[in-house]
Amino acid sequence: MKQKNLTTALFMMFIMPAILLSQSENIDLEMMYKIKQEGLKNSQVENFAYGLTDLTGPRLTGSSGFRRGMEWAEKTMKELGFQNVRIEAAGDIEMSGWDNLKTYAAMTAPYYANFACNPMAWTGSTNGAVRGGVVYVDIRSEADFAKYRGALAGKIVLLSSLQQYEVSFEPLASRLSSEQLRAMSASRANMQAARPQAGNPAAQAIELRNKINEFMNSEKVAVVLNNGGMFNVVRSAGRPYRKTAGVEPVAQLNLAVEAHGRIERLLQHGVAVEMEVEIQNSFFDSPTVYNVFGEITGTDKVLKDEVVMIGAHLDSWHGGTGAADNASGCVVMVEALRILKALNASPKRTIRVALWGGEEQGLFGSRFYANRHLGNPVTKERKPGFDKFAGYFNMDNGTGKYRGIYLQENDLVRPIFEQWMKPFADMGMATISPNYTGGTDHLAFDNLGLPGFQFIQDGIEYGRGYHTVMDTYDRLDMTDLRHNAVITAAFAWNAANRHVKLPAKPAMPGGR
Ligand SMILES: [Zn+2]
Repeated sequence: MKQKNLTTALFMMFIMPAILLSQSENIDLEMMYKIKQEGLKNSQVENFAYGLTDLTGPRLTGSSGFRRGMEWAEKTMKELGFQNVRIEAAGDIEMSGWDNLKTYAAMTAPYYANFACNPMAWTGSTNGAVRGGVVYVDIRSEADFAKYRGALAGKIVLLSSLQQYEVSFEPLASRLSSEQLRAMSASRANMQAARPQAGNPAAQAIELRNKINEFMNSEKVAVVLNNGGMFNVVRSAGRPYRKTAGVEPVAQLNLAVEAHGRIERLLQHGVAVEMEVEIQNSFFDSPTVYNVFGEITGTDKVLKDEVVMIGAHLDSWHGGTGAADNASGCVVMVEALRILKALNASPKRTIRVALWGGEEQGLFGSRFYANRHLGNPVTKERKPGFDKFAGYFNMDNGTGKYRGIYLQENDLVRPIFEQWMKPFADMGMATISPNYTGGTDHLAFDNLGLPGFQFIQDGIEYGRGYHTVMDTYDRLDMTDLRHNAVITAAFAWNAANRHVKLPAKPAMPGGR
């Protein structure tokens, strides 16, 4: 009895406080209150969203729109009083600048119908307005090229499509259910997205598509009409990224599945279809990828050179105005720093907002930044910024509100994030997924073993809308964006003020 009491007493006196100290995050609840008040009552998300969508337009990498977007971001962050606001040339990639100047497509026979459409990025122009019969081209394998060789010069070509409209019984928008969130909190094997391997059906389809593009260029067709998406919503995309040997690729237009399907069915029934198409695109030199930064510099004598980063990609596709993908993330990041600035916050570490360029072409902006300042993921060489890096939080899953965060397999941060999320549990932010999530800019940091994270977000309309002509301001849910800005500000604040930096993933033997 006596012995047990002594053990208990010793435990209470020495061990328990040590455990509590090591696990307690000392959440500054007063600050959490202020962040919520400022972010939910004085929010600027509508203004920022307007600035980055309607005002600047789409922000395709290398386009005039991207330049307008980064200049808007620089000006806005300066007006907000952020420090060290700057546009930084991140690096060069092999691509052209490209702007769409005019797009028009209509069926003129057997009757008139105009179509919503969007050119594929980095494809060329028609020679003025092209009028004529539409030629139906059905290429399922390389053997089919022979059927059309020499017959397509100057023609309006409609490429056959395997995708048909299918009635959907899914809701237009959705939030994550408790059941789905519970499933996400369960660990699973590493789910790093499988790349199409050479020889598999996805890779074969890409390879055939590239060959079709080359064929259309070499046949000098007037314009190619593609099936560009479901729900009368045209999906934008495109390759290649530049003129080849000074020659513009043939003009290519994406039509919605319904418009494409109508023309395809008429042609299959032997009805002659005539169209009028005019596309004007301009190519110009623009190989440089840019990032935009702003910050609140740290105030602690020792810790001020350490940096917590919050970020999202500024570039978008060109069909809509890149609202959900990813003006929404940029708006949230700028608003998060605005909240802290409005509260006269003096973080110990520097908090830096980063708006990346070139994400859609391969995370170029964030990877250039990480390679220059933090380290090389291949050679494992470390740069001076590596030891000063105190965490990165990214948003790039549309307008939906944060419901939790992915640990990115870094179990060390679980007890930390659990405590950081507690003040926001009643707002629906309560799930930790131990898993890896990919696809966007946090990978530039995660690839170096540094703590880089992406939030779990409600889907809303993301799957239906991103990369399409309907990705506009109208699809943003401002209540959700306010919620996200508040939580981002809180996470940045916590990371900037905790006693030590967020833990990186432990190094494995052999540098794995
Ligand atoms: Zn994105």
